[in-house]
Amino acid sequence: MELERLTIDWIRQILGFNAEAGGLFVSGGSMANLAALAAARQAKDDPSGRLRMYASSATHFSIAKAAALLGIGRAGYVPFCVVGNAGTVDTGAVDPLAEIREVANRFQLWMHVDGSYGAFAMLAKSAKKLFAGMEQADSIALDPHKWLYLPVDVGCVIYRNPEIARAAFAHEAEYTRMFGEEADEAFACWDYGPELSRRFRALKVWMLLKGVGLDSLREAIESNLACARYLESMVQASDDFEMVAPVELSIFCFRHVPVQHRSASPQAIDAFNERLLVALQRDGSSYLSNATLGGRFALRGCVLNYRTTLRDMEILLDDLRRVARLFTPA
Ligand SMILES: *Cc1c(COP(=O)(O)O)cnc(C)c1O
Repeated sequence: MELERLTIDWIRQILGFNAEAGGLFVSGGSMANLAALAAARQAKDDPSGRLRMYASSATHFSIAKAAALLGIGRAGYVPFCVVGNAGTVDTGAVDPLAEIREVANRFQLWMHVDGSYGAFAMLAKSAKKLFAGMEQADSIALDPHKWLYLPVDVGCVIYRNPEIARAAFAHEAEYTRMFGEEADEAFACWDYGPELSRRFRALKVWMLLKGVGLDSLREAIESNLACARYLESMVQASDDFEMVAPVELSIFCFRHVPVQHRSASPQAIDAFNERLLVALQRDGSSYLSNATLGGRFALRGCVLNYRTTLRDMEILLDDLRRVARLFTPA
């Protein structure tokens, strides 16, 4: 528990949150979102049961799922929360967080930031300004198992005011009561999140920050960002690929439109790229996933490995061309 308290405080400092902020490790971004929204509901303390939350259509489904689990449903009227994205799952878009904070203040809303995928990119100099205002959120969900390169099962939630989370989660069962609560090792994590018995998630985060250090992480994240930007520039310079969304972080959404397909219908181009994705995955050299953007199919890549290089981006486009030729009439 002492290591978790220390590591969480390092993350708090990295993000630039207030000194009183605190939080804990959970299984992943979904659980971090759930915990934060439970605290947000607690903060509004509205008995009507008709709460309403705002988020963009690009928000991760774990937010809607958390709302359903918390009984908030989809038909409320009392605004209590606004969710800002610090890197959407589809395209890596970052919402205007400072502006969202102003609106949240005006309407007394809890501001939660889902930074599960993207928030740690604030470590990179070239991306830092996108995240201005993030440190003013009431809560944030992070995934060290994404952009801190750690193995799965370590998400993180930070609360601006942990006492509100305590009011949402503490049940004061006699057998869990702690005495001498000031000591880090006595921190009652179960009073601030959904779990009681937990695995030692802090260890890998602590080892990473101690052993690898922030400067190396900063460099690795910066180089991941450079890969996505390089891919975008190659696509824009080509006559057989096109971007489907602008690159903001390390996610890139694009499609292949070989010359023979240029006059094909949008549906035919979507179908071609769907076939291409499956063929690429079977081919085994490069791996992409997909996204649906504005009803259109997109090939989607996400650079989240410290070993990925600019050369891999060139290989990716070569692989796509090679695999596409296998089923494209000359
Ligand atoms: C991955 C992701 C989640 C969910 O995180 P898990 O760790 O898989 O639970 C939530 N929001 C965003 C934006 C994500 O990218």
